[in-house]
Amino acid sequence: MKPPAIAIDGPAASGKSTVAKLVAKELGYTFINTGAMYRAIAWYLAQQGVTPAQREKIAEMLPIMPLDFGKEGTVSTVLCAGKRLESELTEPVVNDRVSLVAAIPEVRAFLLHKQRKYNESEAVVMEGRDIGTVVFPDTPFKYFVTASEEVRAARRAAQGLTDSISERDKNDRERACSPLTRAADARVIDTSDMSIEQVVAEIVNDIKAKTQTLA
Ligand code: C5P
Repeated sequence: MKPPAIAIDGPAASGKSTVAKLVAKELGYTFINTGAMYRAIAWYLAQQGVTPAQREKIAEMLPIMPLDFGKEGTVSTVLCAGKRLESELTEPVVNDRVSLVAAIPEVRAFLLHKQRKYNESEAVVMEGRDIGTVVFPDTPFKYFVTASEEVRAARRAAQGLTDSISERDKNDRERACSPLTRAADARVIDTSDMSIEQVVAEIVNDIKAKTQTLA
């Protein structure tokens, strides 16, 4: 039987990364940040002077990029030529371009395969925009984490990051290929007035209840 996959989707700065990481820790599953995968490609392209408009060139570059999507312990990692990417992933050029790069169908197909691969041998909590709709459409564990635009903007500002989240959300919602949208069977959690602990508890309790029902 395939190991379980927990899908956590939602708009930018909704708190889903923090929550997904803690849910994974509590369940002993591997945490996979798919935003980091798109960000790594956007960063690498910017380094190479390639703009998101150069779709054909990007499609050619994908299989030969020196990026490696792996994991360290129970957390996904992205390496470029053997070096782990971290602060690079939130550089302003990445925040500005990532949603344009993520709208390219070839980029999505390239990463979809790698994202599903993580779940072949282990249980995962995967967060992103299309996990419940496209990556794991058959999982019974789908959560759509959101918060008001004001709360999300304040959260990003508190991290000291320059990030036009409303523009990214617009791009993510309006793209033709795998747009950001709530799966019809996802449980929606508005975190605007909730603590992180409350959100984590709601998700973990729901997973436990569903697991019992399915057993
Ligand atoms: O989650 P994060 O804000 O780091 O994601 C960065 C960007 O990557 C998103 O704005 C979106 O354009 C793209 N993304 C995506 N699909 C995912 C995860 C992220 O399109 N599953």
